[in-house]
Amino acid sequence: LIAPDTALPTLRGAVAGLPSYVPGRRGAGADIAALASNESHYEPLPAAAAAVAAAAGTMNRYPDSAAVELRERIARHLGVTAGEVAVGPGSVGVLQQIITGMCDAGDDVIFAWRSFEAYPILVELAGARPVRVPLDSAEGHDLDAMAAAVTDRTKVILLCTPNNPTGVPISHERIEAFLQSVRPDILVVIDEAYVEYAEAGSGPDSLALYRQYPNVCILRTFSKAYGLAGLRVGYAVAAPAIAEGLRRTALPFSVSALAQKAAIASLDTEGEMEERVAAVKQERARMAAQLEAQGWKLQASQGNFLWIRADERLQSTLVDAFDRAGILVRAYQGDGVRITVAAPDSNDRVLQLLEAHAA
Ligand code: PMP
Repeated sequence: LIAPDTALPTLRGAVAGLPSYVPGRRGAGADIAALASNESHYEPLPAAAAAVAAAAGTMNRYPDSAAVELRERIARHLGVTAGEVAVGPGSVGVLQQIITGMCDAGDDVIFAWRSFEAYPILVELAGARPVRVPLDSAEGHDLDAMAAAVTDRTKVILLCTPNNPTGVPISHERIEAFLQSVRPDILVVIDEAYVEYAEAGSGPDSLALYRQYPNVCILRTFSKAYGLAGLRVGYAVAAPAIAEGLRRTALPFSVSALAQKAAIASLDTEGEMEERVAAVKQERARMAAQLEAQGWKLQASQGNFLWIRADERLQSTLVDAFDRAGILVRAYQGDGVRITVAAPDSNDRVLQLLEAHAA
């Protein structure tokens, strides 16, 4: 037992002050609907599962730390070179490489709020300063306000499209105008974790922007539409010098061989992924139409989730009701509730529950 007056080593002040990332609760049991983490509700793609099984016999060996085959496969998929690709343990892992690789202590990182909760955590952990710019009244990025927030200290700007948790995309034209106004020595990260679920043309053609503006970095993941959340693999596309720098910030061997093989197999079976995405989009449209008919006012979501803006009172009512119904959703203190679009039967349970609480 440790005596109460024993002096212990202390963590850095920045760590003590970090908000903790609270993941969506994990579903267990057949009647629990796990709609808190925007995962794919489908079983893994057969080709990905087969690739993992085939690679399982190599677990005693370290993976290819440079992930050459995967980076080449991603590059071929996008029409870039492998030198422009950096992979990491989830796109959140790549984002950590970006922030720690780019920011000195005291540099500013600008992002919209609300957006992905890991942003302020990664920024503060790096000793940089998070600058949160409130979303506009339509739950989208206020790019004018974000441009106005730029100072000499700004090093990185994070744009999330479609935005988590609101589902609102940023149009190509608006990002392009923004990029024209932003200093070229600021890295503009376009986080497209949910891009596969977006209707064509709703968000940016990020590759076209990247080709025109070398300070653009595209961030994508295999966790969502590709259904590999549990394997942890994501990637960035950036100018070769930046991508190379990101690779140097990676922990050695941070993406397992199983994850690398599964990601390659997933890119080889794009058609199956697209069929699943189409089904989710259809369900999203069905739910949005029914919720609107019930009296809910929603922004059109381009992600695999719906966002219900709710004040403190409505939110606690909804959270209680979802809890009692065995439906796990994500609540954002004082702002609203995010619900993953999944299989028709769990979506029906959500619709039924929300009908009872519509205005
Ligand atoms: N970006 C956004 C916008 C997200 O919502 C998420 C996951 N919730 C991520 C990045 C990270 O996902 P992963 O690390 O699984 O790739």
